[in-house]
Amino acid sequence: MTNLYKHIFWGATALILTVALFSLLSGSSPEPEKLTLDQLAAKVAAGEVAKISVSGNNLDIELKSGAKAAAKKEFDSSLSETLVNYGASPEALRAVAIEIKEESGFRFWAAVLLPALLPLIIIGAIFWFVFRQARSGANQAFTFGKINIRLFAPFKDRITFTDVAGLKEAKQELLEIVDFLKNPKKFLDIGAKIPRGVLLMGGPGTGKTLLARAVAGEAGVPFFHISGSEFVEMFVGVGASRVRDLFQTAKKSAPAIIFIDEIDAVGRERGAGLGGGHDEREQTLNQILVEMDGFERDTNLIVMAATNRPDILDPALLRPGRFDRRVFLDAPDINDREQILKIHAKGKPLDKSVELRKVAVRTPGFSGADIANLINEAAILAARQNRRSVSQDDLYDSIEKVILGPERKSRAISVKEKEIIAYHEAGHALMAASLKDADPVHKVSIISRGRAGGYTLKLPVEDVHLRFKSQFLADLAVMLGGFVSEELVFNELSTGASSDLREATGLARRIVTQYGMSDKLGPMTFGRHDGALFLGREIHAERDYSEEIASKIDNEVKDFIDGAYKKAKKIIASRRKVLDTIAKTLLEKETLEQEEFNRIVGRFNLKPLAA
Ligand code: ADP
Ligand code: MG
Ligand code: ZN
Repeated sequence: MTNLYKHIFWGATALILTVALFSLLSGSSPEPEKLTLDQLAAKVAAGEVAKISVSGNNLDIELKSGAKAAAKKEFDSSLSETLVNYGASPEALRAVAIEIKEESGFRFWAAVLLPALLPLIIIGAIFWFVFRQARSGANQAFTFGKINIRLFAPFKDRITFTDVAGLKEAKQELLEIVDFLKNPKKFLDIGAKIPRGVLLMGGPGTGKTLLARAVAGEAGVPFFHISGSEFVEMFVGVGASRVRDLFQTAKKSAPAIIFIDEIDAVGRERGAGLGGGHDEREQTLNQILVEMDGFERDTNLIVMAATNRPDILDPALLRPGRFDRRVFLDAPDINDREQILKIHAKGKPLDKSVELRKVAVRTPGFSGADIANLINEAAILAARQNRRSVSQDDLYDSIEKVILGPERKSRAISVKEKEIIAYHEAGHALMAASLKDADPVHKVSIISRGRAGGYTLKLPVEDVHLRFKSQFLADLAVMLGGFVSEELVFNELSTGASSDLREATGLARRIVTQYGMSDKLGPMTFGRHDGALFLGREIHAERDYSEEIASKIDNEVKDFIDGAYKKAKKIIASRRKVLDTIAKTLLEKETLEQEEFNRIVGRFNLKPLAA
């Protein structure tokens, strides 16, 4: 805000100065009497005029009485003709001395151009101030031609490896880079080639950016941070020149690290068509390659880059001598999650009741960023209720908030709707409790959250890296549990199950086309996925099979869904009493935690079934 006032102040000052200058230039202070042309002609006729000086269209008149006057003549017409036309006789005119003066250049320009230029000058002045402000603002963000980089000085806000939890292997790899930046001589003396490029790969939020900064912090060198999308986005046509600037600046402050975040924005495979043939991007990419090839062997500069889509990177980037060091960042396991929780709990007073380990248990699949977010949400929750410390329940609530979105207790639901939701969730929960390969239920609730009407939170017992066909079959049957329960109890279907069905269909299709788990189609994958399965994201699959196979796939998918549906129907029908009990309790209490749920189901002594 203060900046805005500054700009207004300077703008106003500029305005006042210009107006003052203008009036200074355009006239002398004691204003002479102004005459119209016919008045002037009358005065000439009466013989009162001694001298007329003409400069441009301005007439300066000296009267015989010694007084001065001024007049203007018509543009482009002769003065004598004009006066005669106004009734002064040629004889009377001849008695007047007429002097034609060269128009003063300065005055002419000032008088003619200044009024036209005035607005431009003011606007220009304001712009100048705004830009000067922006340039001197944080991080030098407004440099045309030069790059938009954030430079982190070595010891300011220093982040080190201790700020990064887990990621042991990645840190181990990067220690070598730190060592090189600190004592390059050791490596050069023995003739070792120093790596130039390090590519950090890992899912979103796994700590790539954080780790890159930590390397700079450990080595105590400047860290030039730019994101790939900034190269592409900001000004068309200067991507390549910005790369050059970046490398030049960085080389000057070597030893240093250049960090290109989200490099997939520029480093996408050239000519891959995705997003159109983007010349700008290709030139930027080429310039990066050229710069990296151009280092001297002893240039003490390391280029780090990060991406969560290594599968779409241009192979030229991965060639030896470029980003040939590749470091994988795994999703955090349970111990890492506990560490990350500890790191982010710093500065947030925790209740004595808090056991971070239990939070770690409940958050499989969370990335580091999710966990940081979770702890922050918990702190916000505590603060909103004016508590001084964060409790275990705050943390648990935040887990669900991060997964499912905020609770919407106030959403008005009719009694009937509430009953349907209760039976729907009870169906999921009962299936999960009945099948021995299903993940255990952590919580069932009929409080709506985000877009879901209610939810059943199931979590794997431990961190898993492999999943088995039997588990997938159980998952399918659990997903259909809600649908089946609604159908059995109300003899009617609602739209509430649509997202379950979509998810189930997707899973069944993956079982057939990607995991090769269908007996009919055999151990093959179908559809080229551009490595899209990498890090769990799918873009689009290209079809690489015949119509015939396509219809076989569809049939298999249908068979899997049908099987799961029949299974769910059989189990829920035969365990209707349990279903009713769960649903009733849900209607009463709205939410059942794991222990409570297990107690209810435990009373029935259910035999674990195979899916
Ligand atoms: P990425 O660049 O991989 O998408 P970031 O490095 O930006 O992820 O991580 C986002 C945030 O998540 C970090 O600022 C940090 O607070 C938290 N975080 C992620 N991984 C870790 C970790 N291993 N240890 C501590 N904090 C982490
Ligand atoms: Mg990042
Ligand atoms: Zn459901």
